[in-house]
Amino acid sequence: MDLNQIRARMANCPCGQTHEIELEGLEIAHGLLDRVADLLKQYRFPNRVLMVADVNSFRVTKGLYEQLLGAGFTVELRVYEDTRVADMKAVEELQVLLRRAGGCLSVGTGSVNDICRLAAYRENKQFAIFATAPSMDGFASDSAPITEGNFKTSYPCRQPRIILADSRILAESPAELKAAGFGDVLAKYVAIADWRVANLLHGDYYCERVGQFVRDAVAKMVALADQVPQKNEDAATAIMEALVLTGLSMQLAKCTRPASGTEHIISHYWECKKLQRGIISDFHGKKVCVATLIVSRAYHNLAKLKSVRAHKEHIDWKDVQAHYGEGLIDGMMSLNTPDTIVDEIDPRAVEENWGKIAQIIREEIPTPEKLLALCQAAHAATTGEDISVDPQLFLDGIKYHPFMRRRVTVARILPMIDLDLLRAYQNDL
Ligand SMILES: [Zn+2]
Ligand SMILES: [Zn+2]
Repeated sequence: MDLNQIRARMANCPCGQTHEIELEGLEIAHGLLDRVADLLKQYRFPNRVLMVADVNSFRVTKGLYEQLLGAGFTVELRVYEDTRVADMKAVEELQVLLRRAGGCLSVGTGSVNDICRLAAYRENKQFAIFATAPSMDGFASDSAPITEGNFKTSYPCRQPRIILADSRILAESPAELKAAGFGDVLAKYVAIADWRVANLLHGDYYCERVGQFVRDAVAKMVALADQVPQKNEDAATAIMEALVLTGLSMQLAKCTRPASGTEHIISHYWECKKLQRGIISDFHGKKVCVATLIVSRAYHNLAKLKSVRAHKEHIDWKDVQAHYGEGLIDGMMSLNTPDTIVDEIDPRAVEENWGKIAQIIREEIPTPEKLLALCQAAHAATTGEDISVDPQLFLDGIKYHPFMRRRVTVARILPMIDLDLLRAYQNDL
């Protein structure tokens, strides 16, 4: 994939913003594992490398460590037993190791990349990723979600300079991980719809060029949905490309809106509530996929309403707080006091623009039936059971998630029309 082509496409954008990409190298190809040392040299990656992997990613990149040594790199290796959780202890350990290295090569996906991303940023070292599974859209991200105790915080970082992947390894990665990545890309349908609605009702910045860039990446991947469960290199590459590109879209727009909407907030609610009970959540992309199906159903139900009566919202904060519970209330309330983001929206704007909102939903989000068929073709998660979210938590997430962010989404404005997303989902309108 040619990053210069993307730069050219984004140059002189009528939205007025300068769209920049920090990423210098993005290479996904068959057999690329054998060329990692050459590529790192080509991109002038430092000679002293801290290589970080987990047991799985180390196993599937057999020979990489020796290849780097053979090419003259000085390599220190740290292989983690288990990196399901990206925790601060690991970040701090890597920071110490990085002090004697010039750059960090993260081998893997998800949490491995996140601990390396933050450690490299804090030590001001170069950062490259060799991706082993297309499981989530964080590869090109400039922030890292890190867990400390039972709380997860997103830390600002820099993007990697280089992202490399071997399509053979991506294709051979567990079907569950590929399906999770597929789900994280499907989420962008909702993200773009919510973004346009925030622009319409609240004047939030929106860029149609970035929106179209995301739509194109999603469409290319969706066309190969039925190949996802196979060990198919084209499908695995399409997922990986879509994940990196939609990750890049956040940097192009300088906000997370093009890649994350209501579905990500619902997933985040489930995750935080499970962490509260000391339970580690399922893969990010799996949760987001299930939430995308929910939002599609709810939004399409809403889009059938011909008109609405809107007023200032009246939230029962006691009820909301009771559902957030210990440790989550203060953070949530700080986003909603002294006023809420919805207080900034004129109810008449909701009434007058309702037809347009319904149209945006129909334009951007496939029907729940269509999305379900895609998920089934890709063997992606579709139910609360698939992601070990119990029935009560499942429904609570749909109803109470919007208050975790100070962000306008279709779901967030529903109290203005005496509704919530759960009622829309259950078609109780
Ligand atoms: Zn633009
Ligand atoms: Zn995501």
